[in-house]
Amino acid sequence: MSYIVQKFGGTSVATLDLIKKAALRIKAEVEAGHSVVAVVSAMAGTTNTLVNYVRDLSTTYDRAEYDAVVSTGEQITAGLLALALQSLGIPARSWQGWQLPIQTSSHHSHAHIQEIQTHRLTEAAKKGLVSVVAGFQGVNADGRITTLGRGGSDTTAVALAAALQAERCDIFTDVDGIYTADPRYVSAAGKLNQIAYQDMLELASQGAKVLQRDSVELAMKHGVRLRVLSSLSETPGTLVTGEHELQTTRRQVSGLAHSLNHVKLTLCALPASVSLNNMTAPPQGKSHCS
Ligand code: ASP
Ligand code: MG
Repeated sequence: MSYIVQKFGGTSVATLDLIKKAALRIKAEVEAGHSVVAVVSAMAGTTNTLVNYVRDLSTTYDRAEYDAVVSTGEQITAGLLALALQSLGIPARSWQGWQLPIQTSSHHSHAHIQEIQTHRLTEAAKKGLVSVVAGFQGVNADGRITTLGRGGSDTTAVALAAALQAERCDIFTDVDGIYTADPRYVSAAGKLNQIAYQDMLELASQGAKVLQRDSVELAMKHGVRLRVLSSLSETPGTLVTGEHELQTTRRQVSGLAHSLNHVKLTLCALPASVSLNNMTAPPQGKSHCS
């Protein structure tokens, strides 16, 4: 059987209309003869709302309960996408991480996938069903729900593609591919048709948010062919693959990533005796930096 994993990010399932569009994308692959396993994120904004609920309720929150709360967004989308597929005449079933199961480490809020049981998915595919898997979540050895870190649905999708030896793993997102820089800030940024795993890993590590870093690492380890594209356009997106598959030679610089969450703090003209634990304002209250 030839499997294709299709992952829909939060912006691709943000409304019921978009969920219907995602279902049409899946239907096209089913009609082309593929067995599709879909992976979904929570509807855009949902996970942030859930994270804020937890933080507002308790500053010293228990991470196991954080996972119990923040994993729920994906459950909703999985059920809705299965229903949308059924309305199009495509038999479908949703699955949560614990139901397969997707076994993870115990590290709540940042768990790592250790093993995936695929028999429920392969049995479903044999019956002609599309499986819709809730991304971002798994279960640990104690039977507790875990989550894989923000953006973790990418990793769920790649791990499933590796376990099913899928032909391809499509990541539908709000941009139509990987750009040389963030197109929201750099108007001259260009879209790449292809990029090597190694270069994508570097971009993801340096702050490019389009793919979760762990997912790229896993794709590289298992040779999963990743396609990053938009569910709203027909353009082919960017293929993330091994160097041997690249049609052009690797560029010396593939792209630039940036992070807006850094502050540069420069301490200067400090007397040699100043201890950082005991810091007071500089003498005369003036800055000594020029
Ligand atoms: N919903 C989760 C998040 O917002 C996981 C994901 O979207 O990949 O981080
Ligand atoms: Mg993402």
